[in-house]
Amino acid sequence: MASYSQAVLDEIRTAVDVVDLVSRFVNLRKAGQNWKGLCPFHMEKTPSFMVNPKKGIFHCFGCGVGGDAFGFLMRQDKLSFPEAVRALAKQAGVALPEERGSAGERGREELLRTMELAWRFYVDKLWKPEGEQARQYLAQRGIDPEVARRFGLGLAPEGWEGLQSFMRSEKVTDDALVAAGLAIPREGRASVYDRFRGRLLFAIRDLQGRVVAFGGRAFGDEQPKYLNSPETSLYVKGNLLYAADLARPAIQAKNRALLVEGYVDCLMAHQHGFTETVAALGTAFTPAQLGLLKRYCDDAILFFDADAAGTGRRSAPRSCSSPRARAWRGPSTAPAPSSPRGRCGCASRSCRRATTPTPFYERAAPPPSRSGSGRRGASSPTPSTARSPTRRAPRVRARGPARSPARR
Ligand SMILES: [Zn+2]
Repeated sequence: MASYSQAVLDEIRTAVDVVDLVSRFVNLRKAGQNWKGLCPFHMEKTPSFMVNPKKGIFHCFGCGVGGDAFGFLMRQDKLSFPEAVRALAKQAGVALPEERGSAGERGREELLRTMELAWRFYVDKLWKPEGEQARQYLAQRGIDPEVARRFGLGLAPEGWEGLQSFMRSEKVTDDALVAAGLAIPREGRASVYDRFRGRLLFAIRDLQGRVVAFGGRAFGDEQPKYLNSPETSLYVKGNLLYAADLARPAIQAKNRALLVEGYVDCLMAHQHGFTETVAALGTAFTPAQLGLLKRYCDDAILFFDADAAGTGRRSAPRSCSSPRARAWRGPSTAPAPSSPRGRCGCASRSCRRATTPTPFYERAAPPPSRSGSGRRGASSPTPSTARSPTRRAPRVRARGPARSPARR
């Protein structure tokens, strides 16, 4: 029988959301820090079955059973421990030791190491004397150095081979650099050049906090203004949210997520105390991203900027057509349309346009949390809806900062 190391089991436990897992079999509703439902392992009429997402465990106060994600699946699907481990590992995308020797997995580990090394290189550049100009830029944008460090900001130096020469000293091959999206092969020659040059870099991390991609912003008028990593085997656009690893605890605690469009807005929101903020990574808000938020909160509030390099507009339609998006106000500086059908094509009556003259975090006190009175301010764009008794996708709302009711 296969035995698994504690490290592997921990990795799977971290990657699996126990509430998500249990919700497949039990209707759960939020009860403080926990989720509550009718125990699937004994007959009962009042819920005494609790799931604690923070600890990753469940417990029934009726029949006394309890355990972690593995224990739940073993009991629920009548699996042996190794079977449950394999099932959850597969679901979580964690490779088990017996598979780790495979070429694919070795490649993945190498890519992760490459990204980690590159990230350290870029961060180092930002805080060295040569990063002076970049640090001035951060100061101009009002970004606190402590926040810049927390978010792992970096600087890609000017020049074609800065990262490359560093990576050579770390025995990273050009092939690995290309596979990681950090270098581009020169046409017709067997050499490569750095993808990111003279840019401020935002580290894009997965939920485990591993760097999987970068977003690079130009300091001046160079085009493109934003240059992102290409998709790699580590990074699939639309599957991740920027800063989700940092924001997750606050999202869980406040039972809501604030979604902004740009990296800088996201940083600034955190800096102003809105630590439940994530950014959409320059893509439309996708169902996968919604699914990610669903694991941690009931409410997603969108703050999309109408004039952020013109990128705001394209975000609305796709997102709005998401079946789970209950309400969406597309970003625009135009007044609300008279027709109930907004520009984004959503038939929802509450789908109206918002005006976004100033970022919300600069104008408003934190918007009211859902865990508050349950009633929104009178100027709230969407009607208040009774909370569904079962776990479901987070409600998606867009909020115009000018209308935030909690302004003080
Ligand atoms: Zn029970």
